[in-house]
Amino acid sequence: MADKSYNPFEIAQAQFDRVADLLNLDKASRDLLRYPMREYHFSIPVRMDDGKVRIFRGFRVQHNDARGPGKGGIRFHPMETIFTVRALAMWMTWKCAVVDIPLGGSEGGVVCDPHNLSPREHEQLCRGWVRQVARNVGPHLDVPAPDVMTGPQSMLWMLDEFETIHGGKYPGFITGKPVGVGGSQGRREATGYGVVITLREALKDLKLKAEQTQASVQGFGNVAQYAIELYQRMGGTVTCVSCWDQADQKAYSYRKEQGIRLEELLGITDPFGGIDQARARDLGYERLPGEAWIEQDVEILIPAAIENQITVENVNSIGRRVRIVAEGANGPTTPEADAVLSQRDILTIPDFLANAGGVTCSYFEQVQSNMNYYWEKDEVLAKLDAKMTSAYIEVRELSRKNKLNMRDAAYVISINRVAQACRDRGWV
Ligand code: NAD
Repeated sequence: MADKSYNPFEIAQAQFDRVADLLNLDKASRDLLRYPMREYHFSIPVRMDDGKVRIFRGFRVQHNDARGPGKGGIRFHPMETIFTVRALAMWMTWKCAVVDIPLGGSEGGVVCDPHNLSPREHEQLCRGWVRQVARNVGPHLDVPAPDVMTGPQSMLWMLDEFETIHGGKYPGFITGKPVGVGGSQGRREATGYGVVITLREALKDLKLKAEQTQASVQGFGNVAQYAIELYQRMGGTVTCVSCWDQADQKAYSYRKEQGIRLEELLGITDPFGGIDQARARDLGYERLPGEAWIEQDVEILIPAAIENQITVENVNSIGRRVRIVAEGANGPTTPEADAVLSQRDILTIPDFLANAGGVTCSYFEQVQSNMNYYWEKDEVLAKLDAKMTSAYIEVRELSRKNKLNMRDAAYVISINRVAQACRDRGWV
């Protein structure tokens, strides 16, 4: 997002075009699926704590809802652009389709830096976002969820505003809510766990045992933390993590050769996934430049921060030992870098498959909220495992059968499913 020449929507379209060619997709389906069906752009006035009113730019993009109500996060980020939101909405369509849940793809965002908002200002921004789109989203239309720098509390404020506007209880309007107020057990863990469930299957494919592997992770937020937790429980060792340092306005990597200790690092991490530099040093972590995470001598790389992180500039610094890239983040790899990963025979579990655990569990939350009946955590996680495993196996089987890399195989499955739904509805 920081690089102005980088346009994630063009990347999402290029990925789509490649597979549309492979599938020989008709012109009408291409024209429909290359663009979002609807977009809302709006201004959100917020009275700040100093008494002045500030206007924030907000978005909601609905890419395609042929398979069901739209589903997708709301990202609060200072470098948010409509191109990022469009790309994320499109990837959401493919993500829901690849795990075969009956939902379409959406995404929203606000250009803001939550680091600089007080809790009251953050609340007003959440409520203001809902006020602008309250008629265009809803349990049967489009269901938002958290993304970068939004979380359970933001979702609850948004739900409260939606229910106030519509005069009723609609817990299925939004997911990622706190447990006990319409949230699902396991939602917090779901994306990171989902990444590692697909990683577990990839390790089996490569006949590797988790306990004999090491991993390096970019990001130390929601996705990264739970991915690390499950991978370590499987016996794996994480030697390096990286995160954004708000004070220095740049990223750092933190390394411990014998393996990071998750609990101790969590103890010195802020709610935005930023690690306290000085305390990390006291705990014996080496502080390295931000991009060092990618250069580590490990079997597994997990980009779990933001998009546009594995590029032509750094893809060749990936070590010889790396066998798997499990994309926790959305859009971390550019198409040029992806081609290099393929040539090097590095098994890449594409973002919209690897991180689909979040939306899968959000779907479970939506189902529970609409029923007003909530499942135990074990039940949620077992269902999550079943969905992620079968999606991975389906993609891997197609990739072997048609000699495609995992990303193209996942796209073939998703685009076919969505295009079929559009045809079945008589749209094309
Ligand atoms: P988060 O805000 O909880 O954490 C983001 C982490 O990335 C933080 O540790 C931050 O310091 C770090 N970071 C930011 N910029 C960085 C940089 N340049 N270099 C290194 N680290 C950097 O976000 P999250 O929810 O963990 O999401 C991470 C990624 O996963 C995003 O791409 C998001 O779209 C994707 N994703 C999230 C979910 C979910 O359920 N949370 C679901 C699907 C996909």
